[in-house]
Amino acid sequence: MIRIIMLGAPGSGKGTQTQLLSKYFYIPFISTGEILRQEIKKNEKIRNYIEDTINQGKLVKNSFIIQLIKKKIQEKKCYNGFILDGFPRTIEQAKSLKKNIKIQYVIHLKIKHDSIINRIKGRLIHEPSGRTYHEIFNPPKKKNQDDITGELLNKRKDDNERIIINRLKEYEIHTKPLIKWFKKEIKNNIKYLEVNSNASIKYINKKIINYINNNKKNN
Ligand code: AMP
Repeated sequence: MIRIIMLGAPGSGKGTQTQLLSKYFYIPFISTGEILRQEIKKNEKIRNYIEDTINQGKLVKNSFIIQLIKKKIQEKKCYNGFILDGFPRTIEQAKSLKKNIKIQYVIHLKIKHDSIINRIKGRLIHEPSGRTYHEIFNPPKKKNQDDITGELLNKRKDDNERIIINRLKEYEIHTKPLIKWFKKEIKNNIKYLEVNSNASIKYINKKIINYINNNKKNN
């Protein structure tokens, strides 16, 4: 059983590392941003609310996202563990998670704010699956095409400079305080790792895997 939480500012590489860790440990991942983007496509009732919130770079309501996650982590495929990418993003969300499950690993990808905008601007997404790439740091095998289906890649609508600035503000106000909160939880046996996300994707991935494997042995 491995439960991992990926923490970090937008553009810190959470999605990329999540995908690699999911393959390595054979556990599913739950990406709240991705779930919300899929909900926009299929859920007419709340489509406007989610779309407007995301496109303003704001966080959706705690109660809404908490309810969504509660359902997801109870799915059978999550019995052997999972990776949370983009959740929790507020202390309220973290507290509700703590009530429902035992959090094991928190991986914090640290990034300097001045490199965020350039990193996000080069990001590409395969909309049907949510697979992400980066034009320079993590390019697809064929330009602008998804590696698995060959379908066209797109830019996310909220990956533009104006919205990114708002997303970073939301991060500073709501998500950054979580770092302290998780550090306090170390006494409750949460394993917390901080990695510099300006390093290469491979290096970061190795560091996280080694950390988790070493802790698994020691437990
Ligand atoms: P992401 O794909 O993780 O960058 O998320 C895209 C957008 O979805 C965010 O900017 C928020 O508007 C929304 N979102 C994703 N996860 C959460 C969350 N845990 N709490 C609130 N809003 C979220």
